[in-house]
Amino acid sequence: MRIREIVKAFESYKVVEGNYRIWLDKNENPFDVPTEIKEEIFEELKNVPFNRYPHITADPLRERIAEFLGFEKENVIVGNGSDELISLLLKLFEGDHIVISSPTFGMYDFFAKLEGIDLVDVPLDERFKLQNVEDYAENAKAIFICSPNNPTGNTQEGEKIISVLETGAPVILDEAYIEFAEGSNVDLINEYDNLIVLRTFSKAFGLAGIRVGYAVGSEEIINYLLRIKPPFSLNVISMKIAELMLDHYDVIKQNINYIIKERERIYKEFKEYAYPSEANFLLMRLNAYEFLLERGIVVRKLGGRLDGHIRVTIGKKEENDELIKALKEFLEVK
Ligand SMILES: *Cc1c(COP(=O)(O)O)cnc(C)c1O
Repeated sequence: MRIREIVKAFESYKVVEGNYRIWLDKNENPFDVPTEIKEEIFEELKNVPFNRYPHITADPLRERIAEFLGFEKENVIVGNGSDELISLLLKLFEGDHIVISSPTFGMYDFFAKLEGIDLVDVPLDERFKLQNVEDYAENAKAIFICSPNNPTGNTQEGEKIISVLETGAPVILDEAYIEFAEGSNVDLINEYDNLIVLRTFSKAFGLAGIRVGYAVGSEEIINYLLRIKPPFSLNVISMKIAELMLDHYDVIKQNINYIIKERERIYKEFKEYAYPSEANFLLMRLNAYEFLLERGIVVRKLGGRLDGHIRVTIGKKEENDELIKALKEFLEVK
């Protein structure tokens, strides 16, 4: 029965609720939009008609993102979070399986299960680098590459990404955390029309609550995606906010630099247990989930191959200080 598959797809999904002081579990940005910018946004929203449907292909925001990245609007599609785009992409391509490399973002597996698509897992190696995914490219609906990878934090080399693209299979490169990393591979869309790059406003832009993500790819693929996308899945308010935040990239950039600095500070403290990261979180080989929770700090507990590990989102300095203090205590009593 279908419902059983759905329940199974949801199985690993646990909501942590409670009166905890410090939330470092969802890779959110610790900084909300500054009040002055919020006021500017509210002022602008006064002029947005609420009685009208949004632009049918969300052109104003697509144009703004394209300008920001140096592409054309035809290369960009926006979604209700990049999660919506993942689910659409799985409906677009022919093939009988998708390829993922665990440990990685859970939504690929989730949407595949929901759609009844077979999943081939080619696990990342011991340094969390991609292995022989090319061998499973034939008849693949899509090959997912998450770089920087959630939850390990590392990136994949450009050469390897090209080698996967050379198979000709659709490659979905998830760059949700790219703003915290050294370099993007988004320009490869100019050479490979089997490449789709996913981005989001949820992490570096600090807009997880407004739900806007986007994909960059060839005109052809974007055009097909637009045809199967529910036309009004993004609302006018969210789109306007995303547009306005692109005008304030200087503020975003400052926050990104702050988070990177804090990431490196925490990493240095726990070098022995932490993996190098190019994202806004650190993977740590510390079985400290319950210990931290007792002290009001929520992080992500990992399982499977990463049993006994935690994923810690980089917070504000004060929050990170408390995390460092608590983890040092943990190491003393361990
Ligand atoms: C957070 C995250 C996303 C973004 O999801 P949204 O739906 O845009 O909030 C996408 N991919 C990865 C790997 C993520 O960690």
